[in-house]
Amino acid sequence: MQVTAIIAAAGDGRRMASSVPKQFLEIGGVSLLQRSLSAFCRVPRITDVVVVTRADAVADVSRSVETAGRPVVVVPGGATRQASVAAAFDCVGPDAAYVMVHDAARPFVSAAVIERTLDAAIESGAAIAAVAARDTVKQAASSGGRPFVARTIPREDVYLAQTPQAFRRDILAAAVLLGRGGAVATDESALAELTGARVRLVEGDPLNFKVTSETDLALSRALAGGGERTGEMRAGTGYDLHRLVEGRPLLLGGVAIPSDRGALGHSDADIVCHVVTDAVLGAACAGDIGRHYPDTDARWKDASSLVLLRESVGHVRSLGFEVVNVDVSVVLERPKIAGHIAAIRRSLAAALGIDEGRVSVKGKTNEGLDAVGRGEAVAAHAVALLRRAFPLAPVGR
Ligand code: MG
Repeated sequence: MQVTAIIAAAGDGRRMASSVPKQFLEIGGVSLLQRSLSAFCRVPRITDVVVVTRADAVADVSRSVETAGRPVVVVPGGATRQASVAAAFDCVGPDAAYVMVHDAARPFVSAAVIERTLDAAIESGAAIAAVAARDTVKQAASSGGRPFVARTIPREDVYLAQTPQAFRRDILAAAVLLGRGGAVATDESALAELTGARVRLVEGDPLNFKVTSETDLALSRALAGGGERTGEMRAGTGYDLHRLVEGRPLLLGGVAIPSDRGALGHSDADIVCHVVTDAVLGAACAGDIGRHYPDTDARWKDASSLVLLRESVGHVRSLGFEVVNVDVSVVLERPKIAGHIAAIRRSLAAALGIDEGRVSVKGKTNEGLDAVGRGEAVAAHAVALLRRAFPLAPVGR
């Protein structure tokens, strides 16, 4: 038995602030259309696919579907989704007994949902994937230009339609004919219903959502994980050295360490905060502490480096990153910092906004060698790992 899948990818994505139609937007380097197409090509019972897209995209899409693993025909769509699906239906081969329709903008459709919908259509003639309403459903009526609740609709009877929608060929043919006769609907099921066909409801999947907004796209990229945007890991390093002089406090990670000498510097000379800040900024390719807080700027004279660290973490967060962990080595001849490590970790963790379990601090000496070994300077190294938590790059780039 032949089953043809129609994938509707002819929209212009008017609801999205992007010049690229949403079906061509990428999640982890793969377009919504490609993801939807591969989902269907992974189901053995799908024999072939008709992709309907914008006339100006037919050539590009045809090239991109060459490796789909199924015969794929790419056809130009019409002015509306309904007209596009009708145009695609005209290109369904004569031997297709069942036809499925799916929106390219639902890239997370699972094989299970496709199989369930097809099974129900084979049994009942027509079926759609849908999810039961989980929230209380209100019908609205406008009053004075503002929406008010007109009534509460019993939730038990409410389902939100998704795609795929599957039809015995003659049922979809009648629906398409009705549409060509002037009936208007937002999905093929509605047209089939108008012809009198009974349409089965099949359990859809909340993850099979339609990507219609920037938020949906960000969520998609987070879900896809490991892609070029969300889930991406970034490592950064920091190194610093400060002279030690008498009469200065010795601050390490915001903790005052009893010592007869402290680090010389423009700010509070907290070397641990400096290396962690550099590592965090470096991982995000966001410059370094000197660029953000130049020592030529009076604002940072005696500034709390812990505050600068906190600000830097806020900056990389605004770029879409979250801190995974930080590891610091402090090279200091004396005093020994072993007894202060717990306090330093606690202080850094608070500034970084992460658990102490993700902040490591180690004390080293320089074995009496060089300036650090002679107690004339303190040095420190840090590594920070960041993870991209959400994409910030302009959509469609
Ligand atoms: Mg410094």
